Amino acid sequence: MLELKDVTVRYGKHLAVDGVSFAIAKGEVVVVLGANGAGKSSLLKAIAGMVPTSEGSVELNGETVTGVPAYTVTNRGIALVPEGRAIVGRMSVEENLRLGATPQRARASEEKTLSQVFDIFPRLAERRKQLVQTMSGGEQQMVAVGRAMMSKPEFLLLDEPSLGLAPIVVGDMFKALARVRKTGVGLLIVEQNVKISLRQADRGYLLEAARITGSGTSEELMNDRAVRHAFLGGE
Ligand code: ATP
Repeated sequence: MLELKDVTVRYGKHLAVDGVSFAIAKGEVVVVLGANGAGKSSLLKAIAGMVPTSEGSVELNGETVTGVPAYTVTNRGIALVPEGRAIVGRMSVEENLRLGATPQRARASEEKTLSQVFDIFPRLAERRKQLVQTMSGGEQQMVAVGRAMMSKPEFLLLDEPSLGLAPIVVGDMFKALARVRKTGVGLLIVEQNVKISLRQADRGYLLEAARITGSGTSEELMNDRAVRHAFLGGE
């Protein structure tokens, strides 16, 4: 169980995340919908230990993971796929993937997890020796997700996995994420792409100006007036 309790992030006087609380179970897919600047990236970074929380806490299976370094959060079982992917362009697909297996918890099963990643993303298996900088945006996003999987997370945090990808590639990415979920990993996805992310999610939250302003099952959110107004052109 991943539990956020009143998570608050401030940059100086600017309140980027204001008292966010919710919980996710393993194997669940939860999406946080929010426009540019709503605080989505800050929320994920706070969970991953990449920005400090000024108030509140994050608990993984009842143990707090707030106030510890980001690598400790990863070691405990939370992996972030950041916006912009942060992969190493001048290294091959396989080298990038293996970089993800540094936590102690992941080392013993590195080969097994690598085959699992190649099974979910066959394109990466075909191109395991290719330099990542020569790959398409969609393929690079697959590398970023695969690398996070290599750390054997219990929870995977994804920052706008659809950003900059063609619609068909986005569809493939979300199908792959559905397979990642079947391995028992819990997924927390922040997105602006409402339709595709709600199709894959069990439930979601609406983040507006740093606060949670709505929540529901995917179906409820899809029919929610505020969601439709903010993201679907008021359809
Ligand atoms: P986007 O989709 O554009 O990335 P977001 O919902 O992920 O938006 P955040 O990146 O979390 O939003 O930013 C929330 C607010 O905090 C924004 O107003 C942003 O300008 C501000 N902010 C983000 N990072 C910092 C920082 N390091 N220092 C100061 N302000 C920041």
